[in-house]
Amino acid sequence: MLGKEIHVSTPRRRLWHIVIVLAVCTVAAVRSGADDAASGLVDSQTFLRRNLTPAGPPASVFAGAVEKLLGQMTLKEKIGQMTQLEIGMVTDGKGQSIRINSAKLRKAVGEYGVGSILNVNDEALSEEKWHEIIRAIQEEAKKSRLQIPVLYGIDSIHGPNYIVGSTLFPQPLAMAATWNPEMMLRGSQISAAETRKAGIPWSFSPVLDAGRQPLWPRLWETFGEDTYLATVMGVATVRGYEGSDLSNAGSVSASLKHYVGYSYPTTGGDRSPALIPENTLREYFLPSFAAAVKAGAHTVMANSSEVNGTPGHANGFLLKDVLRGELGLQGFVVSDWVDIKKLVDVHHIAANEKEATRIAVLAGIDMSMVPSDYSFSNLLLELVQEGKVPTSRIDEAVRRILTVKYQLGLFDDPLRGIDSKTVIGSPESRQVSLEAARESITLLKNENHTLPLAKTAHVLVTGPDADSLIPLNNGWSYTWQGDRASMYPKDRATILKAIQGKIGATNVTYVPGATYNREVDIAKATDVASKADAVVICLGEWANAETPGNIADLTLPDAQLHLALKIMETKKPVILVLTEGRPRIISRIADPAQAIVMAYNPSNEGGQAIADVLFGDVNPSGKLPITYPRWTNRLFTYDHKVFEGEDSAERKMLDTPQFEFGSGLSYTSFSYTDLRVAPAAALGSQAVRVDVTVKNSGARAGKEVVQLYLNEHFASVTPPLKRLKRFAKVLLQPGESRQISFELTPDDLSFIGADNKRVVEPGIFDVRIGGLQQTFEWK
Ligand code: BGC
Repeated sequence: MLGKEIHVSTPRRRLWHIVIVLAVCTVAAVRSGADDAASGLVDSQTFLRRNLTPAGPPASVFAGAVEKLLGQMTLKEKIGQMTQLEIGMVTDGKGQSIRINSAKLRKAVGEYGVGSILNVNDEALSEEKWHEIIRAIQEEAKKSRLQIPVLYGIDSIHGPNYIVGSTLFPQPLAMAATWNPEMMLRGSQISAAETRKAGIPWSFSPVLDAGRQPLWPRLWETFGEDTYLATVMGVATVRGYEGSDLSNAGSVSASLKHYVGYSYPTTGGDRSPALIPENTLREYFLPSFAAAVKAGAHTVMANSSEVNGTPGHANGFLLKDVLRGELGLQGFVVSDWVDIKKLVDVHHIAANEKEATRIAVLAGIDMSMVPSDYSFSNLLLELVQEGKVPTSRIDEAVRRILTVKYQLGLFDDPLRGIDSKTVIGSPESRQVSLEAARESITLLKNENHTLPLAKTAHVLVTGPDADSLIPLNNGWSYTWQGDRASMYPKDRATILKAIQGKIGATNVTYVPGATYNREVDIAKATDVASKADAVVICLGEWANAETPGNIADLTLPDAQLHLALKIMETKKPVILVLTEGRPRIISRIADPAQAIVMAYNPSNEGGQAIADVLFGDVNPSGKLPITYPRWTNRLFTYDHKVFEGEDSAERKMLDTPQFEFGSGLSYTSFSYTDLRVAPAAALGSQAVRVDVTVKNSGARAGKEVVQLYLNEHFASVTPPLKRLKRFAKVLLQPGESRQISFELTPDDLSFIGADNKRVVEPGIFDVRIGGLQQTFEWK
């Protein structure tokens, strides 16, 4: 099977073919996960161990072909490969009426030899339309002197969100809340196969920026605040996208973004400056990228913003010394949108675009997302001709780009994937999305067993997010902002429709109550509430992406709080359902609410999944991948350093978040016993084994996330309160218990020292799991 996909001919390639067939057979046996799935256990350590192997074929297989091609290219053709244009540069018309303009296409691909085109038509297209566009582009490439295929790139952020009818998954923050990397892997495989089925082999995803600034409007694109959880989920995404062989019809190249530090703007606004000391950058922001590079990711997108006064696109230290020298990236680095020009008019580090181009290319940008003119190509040509950028740097960048094109199999078949058996948006794939949504939903509060609701209850459903697919999806959904209702499928249930489907329309009354920030009919909602058995208030955010999502206040808008407070005056049981991409402050309504369900952005199957949880058909198992703050001006992550007086009673309200990172309730209960850590004193490279027994002590089957946290008593750099080091998601039947074992290595005990180097210092460590604690010494 695999041989068909490889299309190799030289003896060296044949050898690689044999190697990969053997390797894939072994990997398939190991990776199948069947044993784990059957036993209901997914553990982070085993998952990482199995999924760090890069996809083939290795670059070395194509080195000869790449050098030969490079030798035939003119300087202009080489610079063309480094140029990425938006689709409007080769088409006319907007939305569904988009069509190729052959003169424009000839100019881009024939005359300038552009290496890559990306999507900004800003409207999802049908599979057929994509085929028409990609075919035309690749046919034009075939007519060019050296017939180099074009690499088309797209933002498939939560599934192929620019393909009509595709399978959309919960947004990454919600996927992180599943704490289930097998689920992430499966979703990414489907996303890759459907993206490639449209003829597109490159996805600008995953976002590996650490989500440690809750105001940041792109928080929901991240895997949350914790470095380890994001690392595991990032590796799962890369493995799902790239598979074991990048040239397969079901694989796409990943693009890790936005390298690095983009997610921590001081103001909270998108694309605004960050201050991150190098040891903090290395401790919290870099590891997710390092692991994903190790897993073989073929491309990286640079940070649009600046860290410590140096823009991401001008940071030679981070792009060359760290990304290539230390992390070992072999593929290429693409700029973000217009970011070379922005070195002039946003960052003000260059007087003109030509100087900006020189700075960025020398700093390590291999491909420029220009995207709407030919300035980059023209200016870079001049710079090389004037001796200001060496040809060797151009060759280096082009070599990397051509290699990835070879690895993707584009030289053999630039349309690979179009004829695959993948069905876009199949019922099976939708089912995976539904399962993911169910596993992501996080029950944050459930006083007096308010949930699950009885199916005989009369329920008022209200709130701005109750009857729309838009907040269930958020940005990057059919359009960039995700807010065009007409683009959404007509056959998916909103929260309201799913509740009606569950208990019958006659048992449900719907009153909108408020929009995102405007009161509508709160008096009516309150009146109906007084006659209902329970009230489901659907609050949160509307869709947004990037800078348009900036907010000045993390608190949920007044109109929504007012709606909830008025209804709470009726004393009826209130269930808050939150569909939001960041933790909007709800402290005024959290205490009077009987139950709180965090649904994040669970996508098109999310309405169903929420109703399944509300009425008990699904036992929730999601856990918060972020700290849910209680106060607007008291923002911190769970792994912060000691606050003075944090333990004192007076400060408890101030220093206790609304909901803790890693928390999430179930309809059953779990108890932990027998935490053992051995040896009690470890030496040198000795591993430490941790065993714990977890029991389902309640009455129904459920999944628990066993979380291992570690902290060091004293260290030369102030130690954080605790850090997540391992986790395992396990399914337990009522009364069933299971021993979970982890292994900690010296690397897990290490931290980035004051000299910015990783160090392990002898010391005393606490291991904490599920309320238990054991101490060991490392000598
Ligand atoms: C975003 C990137 C995205 C690119 C292309 C930029 O504005 O920052 O994340 O990949 O656009 O759409």
